[in-house]
Amino acid sequence: MKAAVLEQFNQPLEVRDMAEPVAGLGEVIVGTRAAGICRTDLKVIQGVIPTVPTPLIMGHELAGEVVAVGPGVVGVEEGTRVAVGLDITCGICEYCRRGELDYCVRLLRLGLEQDGALADFVRVPAANLIEIPDTISFPQAATLPDAVGSSYHAVLKRAQVRPGQTVAVYGLGGLGLVAVQVAVLAGAQVIAIARTTERRKLAESLGATWSIDPNDGEVSVQIRELTNGLGVHAFIDIVGIEGSVHQGVLSCRKGGRVVVVGYLVPELATEMMRLVYDEVSIMGSRSSTRADLLEAVALVGQGRIQPVIGTSLELEAVNEGLDDLREGSVVGRAVVNFA
Ligand SMILES: [Zn+2]
Ligand SMILES: [Zn+2]
Repeated sequence: MKAAVLEQFNQPLEVRDMAEPVAGLGEVIVGTRAAGICRTDLKVIQGVIPTVPTPLIMGHELAGEVVAVGPGVVGVEEGTRVAVGLDITCGICEYCRRGELDYCVRLLRLGLEQDGALADFVRVPAANLIEIPDTISFPQAATLPDAVGSSYHAVLKRAQVRPGQTVAVYGLGGLGLVAVQVAVLAGAQVIAIARTTERRKLAESLGATWSIDPNDGEVSVQIRELTNGLGVHAFIDIVGIEGSVHQGVLSCRKGGRVVVVGYLVPELATEMMRLVYDEVSIMGSRSSTRADLLEAVALVGQGRIQPVIGTSLELEAVNEGLDDLREGSVVGRAVVNFA
């Protein structure tokens, strides 16, 4: 089979022939139909995530069909159309036994710690399969594990957005454009933030009430002008750039939450006093739970969340796709299609 392999950090991926995987106990083989790529892949290639080995078949955003079922798997049929949750959990650690699977201490992630989605066939635990209805295309399904799931988790589970609230979303890429829609669905008014006019227009067409450009002045000042000086209930920081969390803290009303999804800079600095006096919380948000994914699949299946596909490419062109992500020229999700 063909696969895109990271042989060495900071080198282009090698698209080459690899042995097909075999399903072990409790596992299935998924024939890949679409696989998303995102900025996390750039971090994997840079070698900044210490748990990532080489060589590695990359790709953590997988959709396809079940083509083989391993021993011990019941209730899964070949031909089932699926998206695949990327967290592979041990099932027996303290967190797993409490049902907090996303905190598993032996967590392995598809395309990060274990061979992933940029291959014709992928070995995954049957427990990670999420059946998708015919109303969801494979490229759309490939956005579910990360772009949709992570946004859903950040907005509803971490920020706990409620009807009538106001939410800022900073960063309008694959995740941000979904986060806008999830917040709107939750009954919030949304302030979408990005430097690109095209992204801001898209966010408005997807339901954002306002959009602002960081180049027009300090983000928190612009947000306070739009919210009668009060600030937002939640600030979803998807960019994670220098000063963005601090702008989030300054943008929150009392009791507000800054939810950090992006982490481009290694450290943050902010006003401690604001955290105490205004009881503003800063919290991280990683990926999504299986329950989040099931809920998100239903919403995408009903057409109430529309994943935005930015570019479609073939596996052979994966390095060009990654270059486009590096340059920030992709609006929406970049998806690699498989025959
Ligand atoms: Zn991703
Ligand atoms: Zn565990």
